[in-house]
Amino acid sequence: FFDIVYKDKAILCSPGVGHLVPALLLGRRLVTQHNLQVTILSVTTTTTPTTRSQLLTPFTADIHLPVIQIPAADISSVVSPDAKVVTKICAMMRQTIPTIRTTISSMDPRPDVFLADIFSTESWVIAEEFGMPKYVFITGNAWFTGLFTYSPVLDKKVAGQYVEQREPVEIPGCKPVRPEEVVDPMLDRDDEDYRVYLNQAIGVTLADGMLINTWENLEPQSLHALRNNEILRSIVKNKPVYTVGPIAKKYEPVGLKSEVIEWLDKQPERSVIYVSFGSGGMLSAEQIIELAWGLELSQQRFVWVVRPPAGYDKDGSFFKSGHSGEPNGEPEYLPEGFLTRTKKMGFVVRSWAPQVEILSHTSVGGFLTHCGWNSTLESISSGVAMIAWALYAEQRMNATLLTEELKVAVRPAVLPTKKVVGREEVEKMVRCLIEGEEGKAMTEKVKRLKEGAEEALSVNGSSYISTCKFVDDCWSRIQQSI
Ligand code: UDP
Repeated sequence: FFDIVYKDKAILCSPGVGHLVPALLLGRRLVTQHNLQVTILSVTTTTTPTTRSQLLTPFTADIHLPVIQIPAADISSVVSPDAKVVTKICAMMRQTIPTIRTTISSMDPRPDVFLADIFSTESWVIAEEFGMPKYVFITGNAWFTGLFTYSPVLDKKVAGQYVEQREPVEIPGCKPVRPEEVVDPMLDRDDEDYRVYLNQAIGVTLADGMLINTWENLEPQSLHALRNNEILRSIVKNKPVYTVGPIAKKYEPVGLKSEVIEWLDKQPERSVIYVSFGSGGMLSAEQIIELAWGLELSQQRFVWVVRPPAGYDKDGSFFKSGHSGEPNGEPEYLPEGFLTRTKKMGFVVRSWAPQVEILSHTSVGGFLTHCGWNSTLESISSGVAMIAWALYAEQRMNATLLTEELKVAVRPAVLPTKKVVGREEVEKMVRCLIEGEEGKAMTEKVKRLKEGAEEALSVNGSSYISTCKFVDDCWSRIQQSI
């Protein structure tokens, strides 16, 4: 969990690895392309110092992008241990406000602009105290932004649980959202998480402007609605919407090749499916077995970032001892003999993989992803078509965007959060992506999206211009307040 401060220009506060990475990238871009001074205020939780420096170094090593780390406040006395993720993150950010305030007031020079993420809008009080314009950085997409900002209105309009509605949930000017695909905090309106989510949505609409990690040609309909639809515009109070995306890591070769890349070097072009569920995605024990069998049955090459199943006994032994071919033994949650049988076809990574490097490798022909927005953008930026296996947060909406709007992904017939995706379906989707005509067509489409993304980021591209506009608007506001 972290906050980011743009010294002289802005401050950004954002929690979670999936928020830290784009925030660092945005900070980097503002420093290198727009000549701003940026300081990152990083509220940290239990991430070990090694992981933290591994995460930060590639973004900060070669430029002046200071990162101030602030330990997250203890929330054990204010939220129950069973509270859901949004409740916990927001409580953490709220309790940390005094430390953020002290840190900012001791900065010399003090930042002029405050840029926070969607879970940190309670820290607007600090911006107001110090007279800084306040902006929100939305690390998700424009369609999600439409639903998010409109949620407080939906709360008044819709009776009963969203998931029990017969009709899709309407968002003015945007594609409607299927009831079962609403974001996680909307799944249960009686849960505290929903209230906290609504509160954050209101906080977002109070910003002086929104920066969204998307680009004009990717989501024209939702962006048009956020800017021109009367109802949505009145909700966001006519605030400017800046498209700054894609903000996604790029592969830059550094140091020695990792084992997985050496393995990929030996595989044919576009022959490997990369399987990963982000920084925190977990599958059930049953689902891991089905996925493993599906990969094996497909007879396609794979790289799989395998994590123990949800609820796995962390104190128990993870690996069967004495398994030949695996120095550490075979994880007992995989089918018996899986690693041996797939030794030539697959590469299993335990815990963390160099994802961007893998996706940009020519041997990779598909990505089975949990549809986290960063992973999605990294896949698009690498021209890799996807299997959209949404798990949490707004990922079901991302899966729909990828399959139905952009047509660069296939998805299981069932929602993986509700039902187990069977091995035959896994096999079918993997074959479709790697060796089917549909897979080839999707790859062509995603390559066009990749080109569109590059164009948006180029000088005079839409995202470049929008970022310049953001910087100019910041200046005007600062001048006005002097
Ligand atoms: N990531 C990685 N290696 C892994 C798993 C994840 O480098 O083994 C990175 C990935 O490249 C992405 C981020 O972690 O930048 C995950 O963000 P995303 O929004 O996709 O999902 P989240 O983890 O927030 O659910």
